[in-house]
Amino acid sequence: MKCLAVRTESPVSSIMNSWSTEVLVRKSQEAKEQAYCPYSKFRVGAAVLTSDGTVFTGCNVENACYSAGLCAERTAISKAVSEGHKSFKAIAIASDLEDRFISPCGACRQFMREFGSQWDVYMSKSDGSYKLMTVEELLPCSFGPDDLRKGKNPVGNSKL
Ligand SMILES: [Zn+2]
Repeated sequence: MKCLAVRTESPVSSIMNSWSTEVLVRKSQEAKEQAYCPYSKFRVGAAVLTSDGTVFTGCNVENACYSAGLCAERTAISKAVSEGHKSFKAIAIASDLEDRFISPCGACRQFMREFGSQWDVYMSKSDGSYKLMTVEELLPCSFGPDDLRKGKNPVGNSKL
């Protein structure tokens, strides 16, 4: 029986004490290998780095009901949030595109924005080169949790 005081590494995450952009991009490339994309054949992987150095990865998960599919970025972030992480430093995104940096869709930009606008998004090409932008740069003039708190509607009083 395991001692409860010992924190075991989650099977869906890994700890990066001294992370590097290259490692994060590589992890997103590895996550891409798990992509379930029988319809688009467009593989995407993502690796999100939490403030405590934990990395969660995700891939796109498509569905026969197309709109029920989920992007890699939202898969990775949802895995992190479901494990108790809500503060992020960076996310790397990978695809098979050779000549373009993979860019997060609008829904994923808003999903990232929920957890702050001042964190880094590394958009990579298949060779591992990347372009860095912040969430703020990808989604300027955004709507976020603070906007609800400032409002006078009942939602403004809820715990967000
Ligand atoms: Zn997306």
